[in-house]
Amino acid sequence: MTNPAPRAEVVVDLDAIAANTALLRDRVDRPLMAVVKADGYGHGLVPAARAVLAGGADCLGVTVLDEALVLRAAGVTAPVLSWLHNPGTDYAPALQQDVQVSANAVWGLEEIVTAARATGRTAQLHLFVDTGLSREGATIADWPALVEAAARAQAEGHVSVVGLWSHMAYADAPTHPTIGAQVRVFDEAVALARSAGLTDARLHLANSAATVALPETWYDMVRPGIALYGLDPLCGSDPHAHGLRPAMTVQAGVMLTKRVPAGVGVSYGHTYLTRAETTLALVPVGYADGVPRAAGNTAPVLAAGAQRRIAGRVCMDQFVLDVGDDAIAAGDQVVLWGPGDDGEPTAQQWATALDTIHYELVTRVGGRFARRYVGSAGAV
Ligand SMILES: *Cc1c(COP(=O)(O)O)cnc(C)c1O
Repeated sequence: MTNPAPRAEVVVDLDAIAANTALLRDRVDRPLMAVVKADGYGHGLVPAARAVLAGGADCLGVTVLDEALVLRAAGVTAPVLSWLHNPGTDYAPALQQDVQVSANAVWGLEEIVTAARATGRTAQLHLFVDTGLSREGATIADWPALVEAAARAQAEGHVSVVGLWSHMAYADAPTHPTIGAQVRVFDEAVALARSAGLTDARLHLANSAATVALPETWYDMVRPGIALYGLDPLCGSDPHAHGLRPAMTVQAGVMLTKRVPAGVGVSYGHTYLTRAETTLALVPVGYADGVPRAAGNTAPVLAAGAQRRIAGRVCMDQFVLDVGDDAIAAGDQVVLWGPGDDGEPTAQQWATALDTIHYELVTRVGGRFARRYVGSAGAV
């Protein structure tokens, strides 16, 4: 017997990730920190990291320290910043493994200094200023105390402040007035840090949307995430906007087909009724695999040569398609989303249908999907 087609798989195009990275790196013509947090936005942390580095990324960014340590354990030696740290974090492994860290507040800086004393290492430190997102970072009111404490720690050799940074609230709306306002607060924060003696830090503000749309936010380095995976940070409908190529395809093999008469209720609660005699196809993935339950009767899937809306509710492990009189057989592949080249829906199409963003879809798809890599960028 030949190998059956995989039950369900997320196919990741490493060459697309590398090409997207190279395109952005070339366009901005300055260092690029590739954000590979959240398991490389669902594309696989280590393969995504290797692919962005093959594409010319200068360094990597992750949120939690464990992600950075996984990269180190896999032999990734590029500079890596991790920035979201709970109180009580032990920074010693970060310092021993050359992982750069970030502080939002004096107490966080003190914990980093404690680890620097314990290990005898100098922490490579970024200081995060809240310029208007009201998420991470010190407010501009708390910023002077943070930069002064950091300057003292730097003078004592415990830290080296290598970055001053912030994050934007509305970069995906490039004409929004908060953009100019955040840039002005950032410039003010940089001036305060410089007058405290922190003169060697690299300045970075731009996420993907700002990298494609707001050159005035590029400073010394850009920090894109979603665009590296080929998804339009401005959430337009053209899958190849900005020259990007979507790297993820989500597909599954049909498990069962059946002919049913008109008026048959489909899936839990019978929220879908067949209108005529038709063929139903069972697809063996569901919300436990990251296919949102909200996709029921809503999201499109390519099956038997056309996009069809999912028929009825998405269950934990499966959903159903109504393909009419078109030919479909168990084992045929259906595509939930992909680059859009062969008639399949895109992640953006799903996001629009579900009133969410493609970020949420690609980072949550997983469960019992197998992951398969194609392309050679960064492969070892
Ligand atoms: C996630 C994140 C990024 C990358 O954002 P994208 O919109 O995916 O480009 C950059 N900086 C910070 C602080 C982030 O949290």
